[in-house]
Amino acid sequence: MARSRSIIIAGAGIGGLTAALTLTRAGYRAVVLEQAARLEEAGAGIQLSPNATRVLAELGLADRLRPHVVAPEAIRIMARSGREIVRVPLGASAEQRYGAPYWVIHRADLQAVLAAAIAQSPDITLRLGTRVEDFAVHQHGVTVQARTIEGTRDEQGIALIAADGLWSTLRGRLGDRRAPRFAQRTAWRAVVPAARLMPEFREPVTGLWLGRNAHLVHYPVKGGREVNVVAIVRDDWNEPGWSAPGKPEDLRRRFESFAPTARALIAMPERWQKWALFDRPPRRMRPQGPVTLLGDATHPMLPFLAQGGAMAIEDAAVLAQCLGRDEDTERALRAYEHARHRRVTRAQREARRNSWRYHLSGPLGFARDTALAALGGDRMLRRYDWLYGWKV
Ligand SMILES: Cc1cc2nc3c(=O)[nH]c(=O)nc-3n(C[C@H](O)[C@H](O)[C@H](O)COP(=O)(O)OP(=O)(O)OC[C@H]3O[C@@H](n4cnc5c(N)ncnc54)[C@H](O)[C@@H]3O)c2cc1C
Repeated sequence: MARSRSIIIAGAGIGGLTAALTLTRAGYRAVVLEQAARLEEAGAGIQLSPNATRVLAELGLADRLRPHVVAPEAIRIMARSGREIVRVPLGASAEQRYGAPYWVIHRADLQAVLAAAIAQSPDITLRLGTRVEDFAVHQHGVTVQARTIEGTRDEQGIALIAADGLWSTLRGRLGDRRAPRFAQRTAWRAVVPAARLMPEFREPVTGLWLGRNAHLVHYPVKGGREVNVVAIVRDDWNEPGWSAPGKPEDLRRRFESFAPTARALIAMPERWQKWALFDRPPRRMRPQGPVTLLGDATHPMLPFLAQGGAMAIEDAAVLAQCLGRDEDTERALRAYEHARHRRVTRAQREARRNSWRYHLSGPLGFARDTALAALGGDRMLRRYDWLYGWKV
């Protein structure tokens, strides 16, 4: 395919890999430049809500993903005392309601499926160990300068998509050099073999335990053989990175007021890895020319709506739709930015609100729990129609 159809993508995370696949469906060639020498997923599990699984299914990936996923029957919201506050139905009800399933999966499995699809596409080139450092816009499109172990190399394309994540270099190059905002929360993650856990943690449900300055999420991954555990606590530790070791005894202390079952789960992993949580206040980026941003590079959000990856997947679908409809690349990129702004802003805000809601205690926590129980699971699911019912 002619170079005049080549689009360069900086970053091979969930967003960049999905964009490469959607763009080739729209008739483009994609060159993905990734700084890491190997594709390795940091983090453990990821929830893929119907708005994301619909896009993945349209890419023909559903059958490849299915052996690795679990479709949780519900989200069980628990008080730290161990009392169930509300059970939000997922499983068949969510699939029927939204026309696409709610899945949970290990990130490495999702990445492997995306990478295998990319390897099979003659229209996608993935260059690992290639760090994008700068770009220059000219009348034929864009020249990207990248650094490899052998030195610098130039890549030519008609457009550049910056999918380089939370700490995006290209975002700075596009005029926003402000650092992401620390949320005073750290997320601790571990994966535990399901066979070692009590039956209630092996059920096909997503568990969400709410408590004072701490909450806990768990769900099965690897087709149910392992359980992904994420504990989020209020914290001042804010070093960037994905894999700092966390001391198990520090975490145990933070969950002392939780029910014995939750404490038993927290006590199980021998190794925890922790990372500090950041987002950015919603801000409309206004890139110029044949350059745009995608995923966490443009709208990083806190994980309390489980939507950062889903929004990157949606971005990829809308970007390809806009470029498929309009031969004027720059106009298509502006249409994509416009189409995404309101929705991602809403998701960013909701995620931040949940960060506050989840850690309430005392009378405010009691009021929250009473309101959730009164609302009930079905109505709670309906509240997310705007999110899960999305279609490109
Ligand atoms: C605790 C936690 C739980 C979460 N749970 C969920 C969930 O359940 N559901 C959900 O949808 N989302 C979830 N998320 C959010 C989700 O993980 C992110 O939003 C998503 O991974 C962002 O994907 P991305 O492709 O935009 O960025 P990234 O995954 O960060 O990928 C960016 C890529 O760009 C590369 N890169 C960076 N700079 C350069 C450069 N200069 N040149 C070349 N390559 C470069 C990086 O190496 C990386 O591979 C969670 C996040 C956290 C922290």
